[in-house]
Amino acid sequence: MITVLYIIIYVLIFAIGAVLGSFLNVLIYRLPRGLDFVRGFSFCPNCEHRLFPKDLVPIFSYLALGRKCRYCRKPISARYMIVELIAGLLALLAWCAFVPPTAFVPLSFDGGAWAAAGFLAALLYFAVLAVLLTISYIDHDTMEIPDSLSIAIAVCGILAIWIGPEVPLLTRVIGIFAVSVPLFVIALFIEGAFGFGDVKLMAAAGFFLGWQHALVALFIGIIIGGVYGVYVLAARKKERKEHFAFGPALCIGIGIAMFAGTSIADWYLHFL
Ligand SMILES: [Zn+2]
Repeated sequence: MITVLYIIIYVLIFAIGAVLGSFLNVLIYRLPRGLDFVRGFSFCPNCEHRLFPKDLVPIFSYLALGRKCRYCRKPISARYMIVELIAGLLALLAWCAFVPPTAFVPLSFDGGAWAAAGFLAALLYFAVLAVLLTISYIDHDTMEIPDSLSIAIAVCGILAIWIGPEVPLLTRVIGIFAVSVPLFVIALFIEGAFGFGDVKLMAAAGFFLGWQHALVALFIGIIIGGVYGVYVLAARKKERKEHFAFGPALCIGIGIAMFAGTSIADWYLHFL
């Protein structure tokens, strides 16, 4: 009985994440274009036909309609479904990380408040992951990270003081500068290495993570960005001099550091 209950909860959490993912698709599309993302109906990017709730059921609508728009029959990019899928999985990850019985990120809590504290922490972490997912796609598309999204992460950092895992305030404040200042210097002197959007993102994420985990995030981001850069060059998708967005790699680094920062830092220090 308990197992069935857990499966229902997990399916529900995934579904909620996927629905929010479909809102993230709206943000990814509209934010860089300066369109209103709160009001206004969803529409097909090709024929601009208004989309109704039956067209907007995450993942299912896409598959049920044969990956085409219901109205103009033009193929719809798989990206919308992939974002919904990733958002669903991220919601599950945040839930499993903080809510018993699977909780693997320790919180400072007092006794019976554990479940409620875990729930709040899961919400906060999912919010950050959702913003990181949005940043990744927008930066990939436009090579820019909207300031509003970095500010959203900074706000989550402030909330984390109360509802996140315990990180001393000084550790957070040092985190603002630990990665962003070196990136800023690199951005000043090496053209095209990092953008100032990356600098602001890492300042905000540094406050959320604390400086140790911010360094872990940078470390992972550079590895991922490097591997991706080699792949792009090898596949000859871009010429050597062209730039590619570093934001997605940093976002993956931040996301991993949020959950495994301590383990990775311990593992690394083990070699010193
Ligand atoms: Zn259409």
